[in-house]
Amino acid sequence: MIVGAGLAGCLLAWRLQQAGQRFLLIGSSAMPSAFRVAAGVINPVTGRWMTKTWNFDQVLPEAAETYRTIEQQFGIQAYRPIPGVRFCQNAEDLKRAGRRMRNPRYQNVLSRMAAPSEAAPEFNDDFGSFHIDQAAYVDLPLVVQILRASFIAQGQFRDETFLHSELQPTTNGWQYKDLHADKVIFCEGAAVQNNPWFKNLPLKPAKGEILLCQSPTLRLPQKLYHHKKWLLPYPDGSFRIGATYEESDLSDAPTEGKKDELLAATREALKEPHQIEVTAHLAGIRPGTVDSRPIIGAHPTELGLYLLNGLGSKGASTAPLMTQQLTEYILKNSPTENEVNIARFD
Ligand SMILES: Cc1cc2nc3c(=O)[nH]c(=O)nc-3n(C[C@H](O)[C@H](O)[C@H](O)COP(=O)(O)OP(=O)(O)OC[C@H]3O[C@@H](n4cnc5c(N)ncnc54)[C@H](O)[C@@H]3O)c2cc1C
Repeated sequence: MIVGAGLAGCLLAWRLQQAGQRFLLIGSSAMPSAFRVAAGVINPVTGRWMTKTWNFDQVLPEAAETYRTIEQQFGIQAYRPIPGVRFCQNAEDLKRAGRRMRNPRYQNVLSRMAAPSEAAPEFNDDFGSFHIDQAAYVDLPLVVQILRASFIAQGQFRDETFLHSELQPTTNGWQYKDLHADKVIFCEGAAVQNNPWFKNLPLKPAKGEILLCQSPTLRLPQKLYHHKKWLLPYPDGSFRIGATYEESDLSDAPTEGKKDELLAATREALKEPHQIEVTAHLAGIRPGTVDSRPIIGAHPTELGLYLLNGLGSKGASTAPLMTQQLTEYILKNSPTENEVNIARFD
């Protein structure tokens, strides 16, 4: 039994199906979900310090292969590689970018520096920019929707809220209402804080808000632009601006304050004034952890209970590898990496 039909739960169910396992996925489409809000960006160099994404050289090939396989299986397009441009915000940024560029570890993700105003004439660019290779974005709502639809068609999905109080241990597994399961795997995203078996993990959820926009005047080539915030243009001419980061307000409601923050950052980034129409304003909670690593593995004492969580702001890139490792662990007892193993919090 898999609880939570978001990115993690659906990919895990798909992997178990590939491995010939029987499963039931329980998830509520009425509950908040991070995947619905996420841009699905896979960015190898992120954050103020421009650091390479954890384990990127291992997670990217697995992510690309997983999404490509799902695309072929279901006849969809969900995974789109895209060039990245990051604008330095000050002289310090520029120095840091230079250091990264000289670091051999960054050679496959940073290709070249561009002089001020060289990379994209639409943007204010006083300090220069650098190109990011191997970036991509994944249409996460489409991936989840297509997988859920296939599980529904096979009678393997229940759209309902899972009630932890109804789950009881039996001599050979777990009973949930009319269902018996050998194993229960929780993939609840930020809602794991309500899970009585796993709620004490050191989580660090963070709210994020994004805007979907249109503009009659702004036409940008298909690149991922990272100024103070990032801007992602879509093939239909619309674009997405993101994302805010907030640890103190963990409600899932969008706020006017963050909308203004995102619009102000965009106006500041662009050279010319543009009329921007906001077509959607979404908020969600990233399921982060204190050490910014995913968490996978078995409950320390309750036999048959498992967890996949902590995908934070990088689920699009890390979920494929994490679901693969958890599947191998559950089915073959293959060891998982120490860095992501739930046992690190024992
Ligand atoms: C603003 C924002 C921008 C983001 N941008 C990116 C990005 O560009 N790139 C990227 O890689 N990641 C991004 N993320 C993060 C990404 O969304 C997460 O890493 C990913 O969705 C985590 O997957 P998950 O399945 O663990 O959680 P979710 O996607 O939240 O899925 C969990 C599911 O479990 C369900 N559930 C929980 N409890 C129950 C229950 N009791 N009963 C029934 N169902 C339950 C929830 O309703 C939900 O559907 C962003 C997140 C936010 C909020």
